[in-house]
Amino acid sequence: MRERIVLANSKPGEPEVFHSLQGEGPAAGRPSIFVRLSGCNLACRWCDTPYTWNWERTKFSHQDGRKYRKPDEQSRTTTAVVVALIRQFDCEHIVLTGGEPLAQMEGLIGLCGALRKHAPYQFDIETNATLMPSKALDAFVASYVCSPKLSNAGMTARQRLKPDALAWFAQSAKASFKFVIEHSQDLEEVEALVEKYGIQRSRIFLMPQAITAAALRKQEKRLAESCLEHGFRFSDRLHLKLYGSKRGV
Ligand code: SF4
Repeated sequence: MRERIVLANSKPGEPEVFHSLQGEGPAAGRPSIFVRLSGCNLACRWCDTPYTWNWERTKFSHQDGRKYRKPDEQSRTTTAVVVALIRQFDCEHIVLTGGEPLAQMEGLIGLCGALRKHAPYQFDIETNATLMPSKALDAFVASYVCSPKLSNAGMTARQRLKPDALAWFAQSAKASFKFVIEHSQDLEEVEALVEKYGIQRSRIFLMPQAITAAALRKQEKRLAESCLEHGFRFSDRLHLKLYGSKRGV
């Protein structure tokens, strides 16, 4: 168990590993243990976890205008430490999230392998779908919740859409797709991806762009109508409604 994993912190020195209800996507409402990894290969302007990547003295910008001190926001831990943090909870459903968890593939393989020695843990990965999982990691994974980014995230298509990775997830029966929608024009981009990668509509979720419960409420009715019109599923952000925009909940 020598691999290192870089976790995000819920407060300085405290890794963000917590037990809560899944708030989004196909498993919404399910009790799960969340393991938040630090670091991301994208920089979405509305990201709800900018403390995983928007470091001081970097060129990235975010709508909140804030920068984060890397040493305060990361815990560089061993697999054994993460296993112990997870095992304090009586739950076998694990959500590996971020940041971008697939940027730490080797660490995740070590973690999943170590946990399976204790119990038949089930692993879901939340990813921006720009990196393809290795065969070794895929063997552990029950489902992927892919969130490819649209132009509303503030990056070029070349930065945010990686055709090989998208094609891989589109052919995986374990993958569902969750798109963050801000304007009705965003639906045209979703339709273009559906067409290009042959993704079934039943695997697609639309989720409002919102980092507060108030913003979520403002948008959800309009988005529900778009889901009905296009035959996509609606994804709530239950944790925002239950707990607000806090870490570790
Ligand atoms: S891909 Fe996810 S974690 Fe990374 S910047 Fe975008 S929203 Fe944030």
